[in-house]
Amino acid sequence: MVSRLPDAIMLLDDQLRLDWANQTAVSWFGFRLPQDFQRSLVSLLNLPEFSQFIQSGDYKRSFDCVAPGAPAIAVRIRVVPFRQGQYILQARDVTQVKKLEQMRRDFMANASHELRTPISVVYGYLDMMMEDDNEGISQEWRLAIRQMHEQTYRLRQIIDDMMTLSRLEDPEYDEEHKFVELAPVLESAGNNATILSGDKNHMIRTEIESACVLYCNKKEIESLIANLVSNAVRYTPDKGLISIRWLVDAGGGSLSVSDTGIGIEAAEIPRITERFYRTDPARARETGGTGLGLAIVKRIVNRHQANLTVESQPHRFSIFTVHFPPERIRKNQKTSETAGVDSGS
Ligand code: ADP
Repeated sequence: MVSRLPDAIMLLDDQLRLDWANQTAVSWFGFRLPQDFQRSLVSLLNLPEFSQFIQSGDYKRSFDCVAPGAPAIAVRIRVVPFRQGQYILQARDVTQVKKLEQMRRDFMANASHELRTPISVVYGYLDMMMEDDNEGISQEWRLAIRQMHEQTYRLRQIIDDMMTLSRLEDPEYDEEHKFVELAPVLESAGNNATILSGDKNHMIRTEIESACVLYCNKKEIESLIANLVSNAVRYTPDKGLISIRWLVDAGGGSLSVSDTGIGIEAAEIPRITERFYRTDPARARETGGTGLGLAIVKRIVNRHQANLTVESQPHRFSIFTVHFPPERIRKNQKTSETAGVDSGS
C-alpha cells in the first residue's frame, strides 16, 4: 500500500540510516538497492543544507530541494519521529507550487519594473510644474498639480517597495554578509527618525551594545531599521517616545524599535506583515505608508535566520524585536581596523 503512494516515503533508524524506501523514494532520490540500505542518508544525499536540517532535530520545519535522482521535480521533505528511535521521511512533489510561486514573483518584478519609468517621467514633469517661478501655470491649476505631485510620489514609493520586495523574495538573489558594527547604523537611524518626526517632537533614544558585531547584509539591516523607525514615527502621537536598541545576551542579539504610539490589537498582530494589510487603511495612507514596510522587514528577517516578535497594547505602546541567532554574533575585536568588520562609515 505505502509502496504505491505518490509521495516518497523512507524509514530511517536512530542513526538516520536507510531501513526501507518505497518505489517513489527510490526513483526521486536515486537509491541503489539493496546496497544503500543501512547507509546514512546524510552521506547518501550529500547536500550540506539537508544535513543541517536533519541533524538540527527541529522536525516542525520542512526542507525544500530538487529531487537528487529526478532534477525536474521539486520536493518538500518532512521528517517525523516514529516508534522508538525510528524516523519516517516523507517527500512530496511541490513542482507546481514552486512554478506558481515563481510566476507570482516574476509578475511582481516585471510589473513594478515596467511601471517605474512612466511614473518617473510623469513625476519629473509635475516636479517642474511645481516650481514657484513657473508663470505658465495659473493659480487654479496649482492645487491640482500639488495633489498630482503628492500622489505620483506615493506611487513611486509603492513601486520602489514592490521592486525591493520581489528582489528579497528571489531565491537567486544572494547578497554578501559580513560582520557589521551596528552603532553607526543605529545612530544614523536615530538621526533620520528626528528628521522624519519634524514638528511632532518625538523623544528619540538609541541604546547600543557596541561590544558585539552582527553577521549580516548591512543594506538589508539598514532597510529593516528604516521601515520600523518610519512606522514608529508615523504611528506615534506628538511628543511620544521612540527607542532603537541593539542588545546581546547568551540567546543571541536583539534589535528592537519601540514606541509609545497608537498600538495594535492582539488579533491583528499576526496579519500586519502581510502585503498591504493595514489596521486602519485611511490613517496609514494619510501618514504616507506604502503598506509593504513590514512585508519587507519579514523577508529580511527570514534571510538572516532571525525571527520577529511584536508586543503591543492599543493606545499604549508597540515593540518590534528582531532576534538574531548566537552564531551571527561576535565580540567586536576593536572595530574598523579589524579585517572583515564593516564599521559603517
Ligand atoms: P504601512 O505603510 O501601512 O505602515 P506596514 O507594512 O509598514 O505598512 O505596516 C502594516 C500595518 O501595521 C500598518 O498599516 C499599521 O496598521 C500597523 N503598524 C505597523 N507599525 C506600527 C506601529 N509602530 N504602531 C502601530 N501600528 C503599526
